[in-house]
Amino acid sequence: MDALINDIEVAFGGFSWTNALEVTAIAVVFYAALRLLRGTTAMSVIRGMVLVVVAIIVIGRVADSLVLNWIVDNALAVLLIVVLLVFQPEFRRAFEHVGRAGGLRHWGSRRQPYRAMIPMAATAAHRLSQQRVGGLFVFERDTGLEELAEAGVRLGAEPTTELLESIFWPGSPMHDGAVLLRPSEVVAAAVILPTLSGDFSSRGPNNGQMGGHLGTRHRAALQISEETDAIAVVISEETGMISLAAGGLLSSPLSVAELETSLSRLLHSRRWGDRLGVRIPGRTSDGHSGRTSAAGGDATGS
Ligand code: ATP
Ligand code: MG
Repeated sequence: MDALINDIEVAFGGFSWTNALEVTAIAVVFYAALRLLRGTTAMSVIRGMVLVVVAIIVIGRVADSLVLNWIVDNALAVLLIVVLLVFQPEFRRAFEHVGRAGGLRHWGSRRQPYRAMIPMAATAAHRLSQQRVGGLFVFERDTGLEELAEAGVRLGAEPTTELLESIFWPGSPMHDGAVLLRPSEVVAAAVILPTLSGDFSSRGPNNGQMGGHLGTRHRAALQISEETDAIAVVISEETGMISLAAGGLLSSPLSVAELETSLSRLLHSRRWGDRLGVRIPGRTSDGHSGRTSAAGGDATGS
């Protein structure tokens, strides 16, 4: 223990403002790197490794263990290289993200990251609905969905209405599954979301209109909105209805304008409470208006 305290005293003894600046700069770089890796497998591994390394350093210093101190002194650099090699694809993508102007634009428009995407998605949803083509858009938020993207067809494309629409055309090889969206990127298509069987009859007013039965597309939308903070938009092939899933609940059918408003509110409210409290306008099956809230109602109970 004395050794640890001594180390700390030595480290902070000659601490000047240039050191403070240095520490801040390094912290910023680390923060940016971790943000880029957020949601990837590499991130979980790095988190685990940091915990183990910190534990080894503390135990080594406290117990004054020669072996543990040797490991810390000699093995860390090797460990870092191993991580870089094993997770090379993740790091490559992270650096690509930095390099792309889109990534920098995204950083610059943090307050309303999906602003440009929302009208495109709403128009695409409208066109799909008119043509009775089924679709499923998933808007990623703070919970990283990188693993889902891995299993789909990676696109990494600039978002346009035409792209979002054409992915779901029945002839398209990617029409099955969901499209994963990030603020400035159509990340992947043909993404299969996790689904559970079970009773979904209490999840939204659409259920009444569907005879109490929700198909797999709507279940998938509900599930992802429940397990993560993602927002999903479903276009029904059977009915042409557009609905929105948030916080584990499904909205009533929405018009394009309603969809756009709801998406803006949900995707641009940064606080969790705001997000759950947003009321989505829409008609219920019995003709009353404005009662429904995909993200409100029961979900606000917490
Ligand atoms: P619709 O009203 O469009 O018929 P639905 O909720 O009744 O929707 P299904 O009829 O079962 O659902 O729709 C099947 C389609 O939904 C599949 O072809 C696929 O494109 C999509 N889908 C089903 N399960 C998933 C899933 N887990 N992840 C992503 N997409 C899915
Ligand atoms: Mg169906």
